[in-house]
Amino acid sequence: MTIKQRFKRRKRLLLIGIFIGFALFAGMGALENKYPSAVLSAISYAGFFIAFSCVVIFVFAFRCPRCNGRVITGAAMGLSLLSVPRYCSSCGLDFNVPSDEPANI
Ligand SMILES: [Zn+2]
Repeated sequence: MTIKQRFKRRKRLLLIGIFIGFALFAGMGALENKYPSAVLSAISYAGFFIAFSCVVIFVFAFRCPRCNGRVITGAAMGLSLLSVPRYCSSCGLDFNVPSDEPANI
């Protein structure tokens, strides 16, 4: 498995987490407006917390394994949610190299 494939899988999981979190937040929030209930608002807040956590992880979870520089900042801004850069913008490490092999650039 290459670094790029690992990043893509991690990114997909985080996007699913954000989606589910916001769905819970919006869905339960709307229900709670109609039928006020402590349980519904608790679930709604939990959903918001899940989504917020995933966004925070999303911004900080992608680091270059060689120089520890942050990657995919453009994607974190929502420019291209499913694309992963091919090279590290700081040190030029090729993310298509299998991660269990030493990078020899
Ligand atoms: Zn790097």
